[in-house]
Amino acid sequence: MTERAADNTVASTWNKPVTPAAGIPDAADVVIIGGGIVGVSTAWFLAKQGVAVVLCEKGHVAGEQSGRNWGWVRVQGRDTREIPMMLESLRIWDGLKEEIGEDVGFARGGCFFTARTDKQLDELAGWLDVAADYGIESSLLSRSELDGLVQGSALDWAGALHTASDGRAEPQKAAPAIARAAGRAGARILTGCAVRGVETAGGAISAVVTEHGRIKTATVLCAAGAWSSLFCRSLGVELPQLRVKGTVARTAPADAVLDGNVFDDSLGIRRRADGGYTVAHGSVLEHPVTPSSFRYFGKFFTAFTQELRILRLTFGNEFVEEWRTPKTWPLDAPSPFEATRVLSPEPTPRVLRGIRRNLDRMFPRLRKTPIVESWAGMIESSPDVVPVIDVVDSLPGFHIATGFSGHGFGIGPGAGKAIAGMLTGADSGIDISAFRLRRFFDGSPIRPQSSI
Ligand SMILES: Cc1cc2nc3c(=O)[nH]c(=O)nc-3n(C[C@H](O)[C@H](O)[C@H](O)COP(=O)(O)OP(=O)(O)OC[C@H]3O[C@@H](n4cnc5c(N)ncnc54)[C@H](O)[C@@H]3O)c2cc1C
Repeated sequence: MTERAADNTVASTWNKPVTPAAGIPDAADVVIIGGGIVGVSTAWFLAKQGVAVVLCEKGHVAGEQSGRNWGWVRVQGRDTREIPMMLESLRIWDGLKEEIGEDVGFARGGCFFTARTDKQLDELAGWLDVAADYGIESSLLSRSELDGLVQGSALDWAGALHTASDGRAEPQKAAPAIARAAGRAGARILTGCAVRGVETAGGAISAVVTEHGRIKTATVLCAAGAWSSLFCRSLGVELPQLRVKGTVARTAPADAVLDGNVFDDSLGIRRRADGGYTVAHGSVLEHPVTPSSFRYFGKFFTAFTQELRILRLTFGNEFVEEWRTPKTWPLDAPSPFEATRVLSPEPTPRVLRGIRRNLDRMFPRLRKTPIVESWAGMIESSPDVVPVIDVVDSLPGFHIATGFSGHGFGIGPGAGKAIAGMLTGADSGIDISAFRLRRFFDGSPIRPQSSI
């Protein structure tokens, strides 16, 4: 899918969601690098607190992961470290339409993880204790209970894990709408504005250098998604991060077979606000092998082992491209961030064929429903599949919020609130101590509790 898609497509919304604020300000209290859901949510919370915040996005708001994801907003199955932030996020999603005056398609239609066998159902039941600890109303559904909520499936399901309070939202609408709300609250949102690097005074941050000029600031947040590791490395900060590609498709509007999100080994499917479905393969993630794969292999060993069944290693241009990308660069010349305005990988044809096949098998009623668009997104993952939200001790004023690892869309608004608290020192009520960067270097065991 290219950036030149027609206006009624998913891809067209990656191009022009937010009117850029004119001009580059001389100074700001906080400069945010990256206009994904994490960056714009943080900008919104900061602006509402009266903080002078500038957000720089090299391409378009939600041009990368935040506009390409499945749109699931779920607490079910999460790593326990993320649950308080996710529950806060759900509360924010609930009130978002009223607060920002735009509908982003949020609906609590529930989340279902299906099981084909009783053994799988027993394994899913492990979540119920976690849910009970946090007051989350999850339950196990029998086949007949599931049939009442997900209609016409031809798969031989034994039952499902279900959390009725989980939901969905439209990725192409959410981050742009939050960015506009941040703009109205006083944030400056600069698109087409890559940050090349930072300047320091006495060892601490004193400015960011963008392709359009310098912005003086003592506080920077790197919320650069799949580019965070490269950006940090250019500053001498080690951030282990790898990319995996996800191929996604959407159908034309069709019969309502479900009103929530269903995950089966063969298919992930959710109802869209336009009456169609966003669909993806349930068990294929592609990892393009690059020099970073070797560099960070040790730290990702457990995550790789855990995903072995669904991970496909691919060997293509990405290896040479990363090899050739400079690791540091002068700030008065174009940087690697200007070379790729929007990271837009091609969807994989074989995976798309599998999605079609699995959709037809799962819901024979949708056999005649055409797939009208497909795209891919590069997910960035941390070694333990939960984010890094931290201040970098060796570079005072430099903060990181990245590594949301395949589930950052739903938690984005809650993360924005927590990150704003980290930046201002105000108590957000959300504990972020589990997300420190040091955990990857201090000998702590790296144990993912959930998958990418
Ligand atoms: C296929 C797929 C399916 C997914 N499904 C789900 C799901 O169902 N539910 C869920 O919760 N999550 C899902 N995710 C994950 C979710 O999309 C991400 O975790 C989340 O969007 C990350 O947001 P972000 O703001 O950190 O990063 P991004 O959205 O990637 O934003 C980072 C931004 O930083 C910009 N940038 C980078 N470097 C610079 C620079 N130097 N200067 C200026 N700008 C810069 C980039 O252009 C980019 O726009 C999925 C992701 C993918 C790809």
